[in-house]
Amino acid sequence: MPLIYVERHRQSIYMTTFKALGLHEPFVNATLDLGFETPTEIQEKTIPVLLSGETDLIALAQTGTGKTAAFGLPLLQSIEVESRITQAVILSPTRELCMQITQEMKQYGKYLKGLNAVAVYGGASINEQAKQLKRGAQIIIATPGRLKDLMSRGYIDLGKISYCILDEADEMLNMGFYPEIKEILSKSPDDKSTWLFSATMPKEVSRIAMKFMHNPFEISVGEKNTSTDSVRHEYYTIGGRDRYPALKRLVDANPGIFSVIFCRTKRDTQRIAEKLIEDGYNAGAIHGDLSQNQRDLVMNAFRRKQLQLLVATDVAARGIDVDEITHVINYQLPDEIETYTHRSGRTGRAGKSGISMVITTRSELRKIHQIEKKIKQEFESKKIPTGLEICEIQLYHLANKVKETAIDKDIEGYLPAINDVLEGITREELINKMMSVEFKRFHNYYSKSKDLNSPSGNGESRQAKSRSKSYASDTTRYFITLGERDGFDWKSLKDFVTSALKVDRDEIFRIDVKESFSFFNTAPDLQDFVLSTLSAAKHKGRPVSIEISRNPEIAPGGGKRRKKSRGKSSSFQKRDTFYRGKKKKGKSTGKRRKKR
Ligand code: AMP
Repeated sequence: MPLIYVERHRQSIYMTTFKALGLHEPFVNATLDLGFETPTEIQEKTIPVLLSGETDLIALAQTGTGKTAAFGLPLLQSIEVESRITQAVILSPTRELCMQITQEMKQYGKYLKGLNAVAVYGGASINEQAKQLKRGAQIIIATPGRLKDLMSRGYIDLGKISYCILDEADEMLNMGFYPEIKEILSKSPDDKSTWLFSATMPKEVSRIAMKFMHNPFEISVGEKNTSTDSVRHEYYTIGGRDRYPALKRLVDANPGIFSVIFCRTKRDTQRIAEKLIEDGYNAGAIHGDLSQNQRDLVMNAFRRKQLQLLVATDVAARGIDVDEITHVINYQLPDEIETYTHRSGRTGRAGKSGISMVITTRSELRKIHQIEKKIKQEFESKKIPTGLEICEIQLYHLANKVKETAIDKDIEGYLPAINDVLEGITREELINKMMSVEFKRFHNYYSKSKDLNSPSGNGESRQAKSRSKSYASDTTRYFITLGERDGFDWKSLKDFVTSALKVDRDEIFRIDVKESFSFFNTAPDLQDFVLSTLSAAKHKGRPVSIEISRNPEIAPGGGKRRKKSRGKSSSFQKRDTFYRGKKKKGKSTGKRRKKR
């Protein structure tokens, strides 16, 4: 067996299509329909092995690696669709993941006539699920508790299954499903193939593998326990009482943010979501104390991007199947280091890059260094943005929004009257006034705000101290007119700048990509070189504009200020995430206050 694998795997280096991995036409066509151009790493490694014959498999892979297709495609090709006997069961930790897997299986098997893949999970009508099962399901996708329940009521018989897949096995065991998994595995045929997928390999998962699997293949994507390199890890050290204002600043400094905010307890999750909603943010909460219906409503709103911030407990977040999450914010660090890997894996998915931010106190810094060791990636020690920095970001964001806004035809009728009101005001004055209307409110709020960063003290390691020092006092920060709108994220912007300057990647740091502009830092001695080289650079034929950031807090290296006209008239408009209104009590799991 290992020989077949090695040989196939070696071939797979040269095989870049699903067809070449051994998949038949209906499945190749289904992947083409979905726009999958090439198999992902886990798919390349797994599909040939699973198609080569009956085998047990342990695959270490995070969510977002394409693992569902990695087991789903070979499973669909292996079952007998003409038969209505249950041939495979896929176990998943949560209802949401269960539904997601079922949906994907249906997409991958869309050209397989007669396929019936049925999802069974808790919190939904058991009778309805029983009805679907009676039609005969070749594949059942289940949460362990509901599966056991349906088995005991005689609706499901696993006596003839050939395949059992454990998805997110570490998570299922974390959630205390060991007894159910043990029972399910022991009540199914001993000669079935068991495929276990897990992001991490804690003792409990090894215990399952040793007890129920026979000589399994082991496949790993990247290193064990390592986060994907599409995620940048940052931490912000604050005083314990400043967690909430720090969270708000991180959100305000990232106008396009689409984020999951992790809290440790259900109570904190609800409390933080309510506070955010009261403060005018598009936020919602998801945790175990909410009814299934409430959780569905919140998740659907988040998926549709009606919610920008989803505050979640670790358990409730398991089923979040959204690929576009830009930031994961750890409002508090989790107790278990492995939980951090799961959290940060919610961003940087499906070819995109993401940022995992940790709000921490000095006493917790030791934990940051333990996580660094575990994930084999360094955290960047960053400063909570100052009020001024946030104002600057918001100002450019607003200016850009004004520029991009399409003109509403219905306004035409009002224009003569508006022109009368504005008569005698020059274009420049008009821009200044317009921008000032709301910026004042913003500026008033943040001008009184204190520095939230905890001074480096005994708790901070020497390494972290030197890192934050170099960011704070001895670097030059630039403002460049390239952003997300131009297709950049922090990773590709770093690529662009390093290749334009022909410098090492380490020379460019603190990259913050916003919608239409970005910031980055270099050592001050590179300043002239950076300005002259990048102001001559072009992106897709468009000239790039670069300046030293005007904010003294972030560019203390004596860099020149930007033209007065840009900064002085600093005027800004109210934005969604900035509003301090009166408190309003009430259930607020996913609604935004009407009051503005
Ligand atoms: P998963 O790790 O299974 O949660 O997959 C993450 C996402 O990647 C899902 O939205 C899939 O639709 C997508 N995906 C899976 N395989 C591929 C592929 N070969 N190319 C592009 N996207 C994929």
